[in-house]
Amino acid sequence: EKEWPRPAECRVVTIANQKGGVGKTTTSVNLAASLAMHGAQVLVVDLDPQGNASTALGIDHHADVPSIYEVLIEDLPMKDIVVPAPEIPNLHCAPANLNLAGAEIELVSKVARESRLRRALDSYDTGMFDYVLIDCPPSLGLLTVNALVGGDELLIPIQCEYYALEGLGQLIRTVDLVKSHLNPGLNVSTILLTMYDARTRLAAQVAEDVRNHFGDVVLNTVIPRSVRVSEAPSYGQSVMTYDPGSSGALAYSEAASEMAHRGASE
Ligand code: ADP
Ligand code: MG
Repeated sequence: EKEWPRPAECRVVTIANQKGGVGKTTTSVNLAASLAMHGAQVLVVDLDPQGNASTALGIDHHADVPSIYEVLIEDLPMKDIVVPAPEIPNLHCAPANLNLAGAEIELVSKVARESRLRRALDSYDTGMFDYVLIDCPPSLGLLTVNALVGGDELLIPIQCEYYALEGLGQLIRTVDLVKSHLNPGLNVSTILLTMYDARTRLAAQVAEDVRNHFGDVVLNTVIPRSVRVSEAPSYGQSVMTYDPGSSGALAYSEAASEMAHRGASE
């Protein structure tokens, strides 16, 4: 595979949208795989108690595997939980499991409860990575706030359907609060249109609305709905290795290339 430009410094990209099922995990896993396949060192931080990103990367994440829960709640160093993804060189994962469901409550009484992921990343050698991608749960609770405080960039996946824009105002308000109080450097750098169904007029309309509203932040590449994308996780794989020639894999590769070439500054 051709190498893409690598950032001068590690880009920590938070992938968030409080709506469930919009493609956060699919996007995290497949962008991470594409970037790694083009020469970047990539870490996926699974911050969803469902552990779907860990599953899709073929990572063991049973309840007794050291996970992001212990990092956030028990101050275990990141280096003690990060493991290589079996399928793809240069790709690593900080796994999550159902223990993390309790963290949403347990964090409330912790010191610096919003900044625990940032502190864990700061004391970890993220300089060895080109990208850290943080996969968020479908809520705006403390786990997602930790991801917004821990990231430099926010990538919002948007599914092209009728209610897509409805929840976005709430997300943007949370981002503004985080920016003014906790992480002034957070930049909404990227919006990715996911699960696009070219046969429906509605999808085209929603895509147009999103582009009118957010402008250049929206990647040119749109991810089509593709059965291969949804099949890949059950084989513990990204679609990039499961079916590299499929429309979903090609689109995620395009999107990752755009991200890499745009760089952190835009
Ligand atoms: P989230 O993490 O936002 O909850 P997921 O990435 O888990 O969303 O996606 C929700 C569901 O949609 C999953 O079953 C996933 O496999 C499927 N899916 C995601 N993207 C696509 C796509 N481009 N084509 C077909 N199915 C998709
Ligand atoms: Mg998910």
